Amino acid sequence: MKLGFRLMALSAFMLLPLAGTCSITISSSTVKPGDAVLISVSGSAPTNLRFGGKTLPLFSYSDGTKKCFAGISLDANASIQISCGNELAMLAVIAPVAGTEKLRIPAKEHVDEAKAAVEHDRILKVIATVSGEKLWSGKFDIPVPGVVKTPFGVNRVVNGLPGGGHRGVDLAGAAGDPVKSAAAGRVLYCEKTIASGNSIVVDHGQGIVNVYFHLSSFNVKEGDIVEKGQVIGAVGSTGFSTGPHLHWGTYVFGVSVDPFIFVTKDFF
Ligand SMILES: [Zn+2]
Repeated sequence: MKLGFRLMALSAFMLLPLAGTCSITISSSTVKPGDAVLISVSGSAPTNLRFGGKTLPLFSYSDGTKKCFAGISLDANASIQISCGNELAMLAVIAPVAGTEKLRIPAKEHVDEAKAAVEHDRILKVIATVSGEKLWSGKFDIPVPGVVKTPFGVNRVVNGLPGGGHRGVDLAGAAGDPVKSAAAGRVLYCEKTIASGNSIVVDHGQGIVNVYFHLSSFNVKEGDIVEKGQVIGAVGSTGFSTGPHLHWGTYVFGVSVDPFIFVTKDFF
């Protein structure tokens, strides 16, 4: 009995990987605010890693590695420490000087500030949703063909007050122009709101989410599965908006990143 127990204990020990034998690979060693990186961990990887002050879940891939995306926030420090088990890696963040845009949005009468705040909190929660299955593949498509009116990260001054960095890109378009899903995914949210107007949030899995704001109409509803290129709504100027355009945002575990990162780069 005692010998059997010892053998079981020994075999269990042999099956357990040694602590600290994982290795971390990052898709870039230098980044700027608004970038996204793919972190790959091989060896005896745990189920999550630390990225700056956050814990991010790792997802298993068929090549035996575990991976996750991470977003570099607009207010990121000059370097970000990544740790997984006993393994450490550093990511250098180079902050370019962001431009400034002054906007004058006509005040809307009878705005229900409390309702707008509740809607804002709900959208933030939806954006931070994490689902495990990777629903998209390849690069993102640009949802409308229009030129970029306001790029990502531009510091905004709205009606004389600081509005923070622009968390997405504004694409030019005429009211009614079709808006196509940048990638395959599942519609998490499809509602009319006070600030962002008619808004759609699409989950692509593994922490990647796209948002489409100020739409004039919806072609999908919450829970729908959408394909890359599928028309999900139309360009409009609903909510706090200065004219017809699409506000397109991409989030990685709730961190706003430049959507064009995923248009220009297939991380796999
Ligand atoms: Zn915008």
